[in-house]
Amino acid sequence: MVSEDQQLHVMFLPYVAPGHMMPMVDMARLFAANGIRVTILTTTKNALSFQNSIARDVRFGQKISLEILRFPSVEAGLPEGCENLYDATSPEMHKVKLANELGIPRLAFSGSGFFNLCVSHNIDRYKPHDDIKLETEIFIVPGLPDKVKLTRSQLPDIVKTKNEFSSLFEELKKAERDSFGVLVNSFYDLEAGYVDHFRKDIGIRAWSMGPVSMFNRDTDDKIERGGNSCVSKHSCLSWLGSREANSVLYICFGSLTRFTKAQIREIACALEESGHSFIWVVGKVSDSKDCDFWLPERFQENVSGKGLIISGWAPQILILEHPAIGGFLTHCGWNSIVEGVSAGVPMVTWPVFAEQFYNEKLVTQVIKFGVPEKQWTGPSRISITP
Ligand code: UDP
Repeated sequence: MVSEDQQLHVMFLPYVAPGHMMPMVDMARLFAANGIRVTILTTTKNALSFQNSIARDVRFGQKISLEILRFPSVEAGLPEGCENLYDATSPEMHKVKLANELGIPRLAFSGSGFFNLCVSHNIDRYKPHDDIKLETEIFIVPGLPDKVKLTRSQLPDIVKTKNEFSSLFEELKKAERDSFGVLVNSFYDLEAGYVDHFRKDIGIRAWSMGPVSMFNRDTDDKIERGGNSCVSKHSCLSWLGSREANSVLYICFGSLTRFTKAQIREIACALEESGHSFIWVVGKVSDSKDCDFWLPERFQENVSGKGLIISGWAPQILILEHPAIGGFLTHCGWNSIVEGVSAGVPMVTWPVFAEQFYNEKLVTQVIKFGVPEKQWTGPSRISITP
C-alpha cells in the first residue's frame, strides 16, 4: 500500500481560455480515474464551468479536488467577473500576464497538436517566408514528413513581425523546452509522422493523451462541458433526433472568434440560401456595444424548421457525436479538430487566426479529412489575435 504522503500528487494549472481549460480538466479527470491524486488550481468563476463534473468524480471515489483562488480582475484593470478570455470584450483584455515558475517538477500542456508544434518549429528555424514577396504566394515548409503548403498571409502576425506578445511567446517556448516533457491532446494515428518528428528530430519528450474529450461519457458531463450551454439537453437531442442521419451541418468558430455584423450577415445569407439543415453556434459580435449576439432581422423565422441557432455556448461534443451530424464547418481550433475527427465527422475548414491556418493543413493536406472553405473576401476578417 502506498501511504498518503508517498502517493503521486499532480497539480493542474489550466490557462484561462476554454480551448486550454477544457482539455486540461478532461486530462486531470483522466489522471484521477487512473488512481492519481489530483488538484486543479483555478479561480472562482472558472470553477463554475466544471465543478459539477468534479463533484461527480468525487462521488465515484476519485481523489480529485479544486483549489479555488480569487482572481483579481479589478486590480488587473479588467471588469468585475472577467476571469476567462471567453468573457473578454476587447482584444486589449487578452494581455493578462501568466504566472511563471512554480519551482516543482513540471510538465507542459500543449493546447495544440504535434503537427502545429512541428510546423511552427520549422518555420521559426528555416524562415521560408523571408524570401517570399507576395502574401498569396505558396511555399513549402522545409524539413517536414509531408509537403505542407502555406502562404505568407496564413502565417500568424507574430511570425512575420515581432510585436508585444513576442517576448511572452519566447518565454512560453523556453518554459516548454525546460519542462520534463509535453502532454498533448492527440493520438498517434492522427499525426504519426509529426509525433515521431517532434520527439526524434526536434528532440522534446512528449506524450499523446487524447482525445481527452472522449473521457466525457456521461451525457451530463457532455452538456455541461465548458459552462452552461444555451440549449437544454432535451431540446438539443430532440431537434437532432428529428433529422435524418448525416444530414446536418454543424457550424462553430470556437470560443474566441468575434465576427462583425457584416460577416454574420454573410454567413446567415449563405445558410438560408443553401437550404441545408444546420446547427449554427453564433459567436459574439465584435462591432456592437449594445449586444453580445446579433442576427439579421427575420433570419430565425426564415430558417425555422431547417436550422437550430445557438447564440452562446453549445454542447459541442454532444452535438458532434450525434448521428444526424454529417459535416462540421470549423475554425480549426485544435480541440475542435480532434473532437470532429473522433466523432468521424468530415470538415469544411475556415481558419480565422493564429495557428488555425497550420491546423487546417493537417486536415486538408495530410489526413485529407476535410476541404477548405473559399478564402473570406468580405470586410475585415480578423477581430481578435490572442
Ligand atoms: N466549445 C464548446 N461550445 C462552444 C464553443 C466551443 O463546447 O459553444 C468547445 C469545443 O468543444 C472545444 C473548445 O470549446 O473543446 C474550443 O477549443 P478550440 O481549440 O477548438 O478553439 P478555441 O476556442 O481555442 O479557438
